[in-house]
Amino acid sequence: MSAAAQLCGNPSSVHVFGRAARKAVEDARGRVAALASAHPADIVFTSGGTEANNLALRGCGRKRVLASAIEHPSVLEAAEGIETIPVNAGGAVDLDALRGMLASRGEPTLVSVMLANNETGVLQPVAEAAALAREFGALMHCDAVQAAGRLPLDIAALGVDMLTMSAHKMGGPKGAGALIVAERVRLEPIIRGGGQERGRRSGTENLPGIAGFGAAAELAALDLAAVREIARLRDMLERCVADEIPVARIIACDSERLPNTSCLALPGVPAETQVMALDLEGIAVSAGSACSSGKVKPSSVLRAMGLSDEIAACAIRVSLGSETGEAEIQRFVAAWKAVAVRAGRAAA
Ligand code: PLP
Repeated sequence: MSAAAQLCGNPSSVHVFGRAARKAVEDARGRVAALASAHPADIVFTSGGTEANNLALRGCGRKRVLASAIEHPSVLEAAEGIETIPVNAGGAVDLDALRGMLASRGEPTLVSVMLANNETGVLQPVAEAAALAREFGALMHCDAVQAAGRLPLDIAALGVDMLTMSAHKMGGPKGAGALIVAERVRLEPIIRGGGQERGRRSGTENLPGIAGFGAAAELAALDLAAVREIARLRDMLERCVADEIPVARIIACDSERLPNTSCLALPGVPAETQVMALDLEGIAVSAGSACSSGKVKPSSVLRAMGLSDEIAACAIRVSLGSETGEAEIQRFVAAWKAVAVRAGRAAA
């Protein structure tokens, strides 16, 4: 990123400085594409996952949009009149319901289902949803912001037409992302002007951000092997929680999930109280979805899974990173238990 920030040229300029900047953009494009086994030409760089989701939903020209009830707000609020596909108690999208919705009306439709949920980590049956979408002539979009860099990703195997990624979820800079758009999709830009990104997203490219995204994507691909260790630590955390704080609920623990995410509820203790108490101990967790936070309100994701408002209001999201070790897990469990003991929810 530092090297890219030193490049004075504009990637659209034809002179030598411009060509150096263009090369940095195209190198990054290749790296980001490789992470999803996609064609570099299909990558549209954006300002992040939010813009990529908006571009997918608003640019694809489909009036009817079916999105899972647990999508990120950057999907659910990107278009008017989105119909939500329910999820089951395990937090995965209900494919029978999707089939029924697709069969109910014949108009041109876009289906949007995320690869992994940002609050529970639950993996979604995207390839199956994409097959259904194809059967009914619908386009398929997948928000892979949480999964990219944490799980192997292959856009062709998923069978989706568009896929969203965000750099900062894989250790890259904030403010960079991409929409992968298969060549067969006719995408209308939502940001018009200079015609950058092959006319699909105008504006001079965020060169350091894009370079950082490329570097992060390359490193994330190498790091995929570390995922097993992260899953082991997450499972250890959940076992300790179950032993030490029996009243705690481990949300979606029987579902297939991202390796690094645990959604925990401490009934009777508001999530914001937990977040603040843990923060005082130097432990950073979030209530609901951090991307839309400061605001803390009962999670719509947990409500969509049929959990009561009381439980949803007491749930926190704990994320592990590649540098998390057993000592951190033990510190978290001790600090969370202390919160539970103070609230009279666990024995000292
Ligand atoms: N989609 C999901 C699933 C997310 O978790 C987030 C943010 O965390 C976004 C989209 C938005 O991405 P960005 O923060 O890059 O705008």
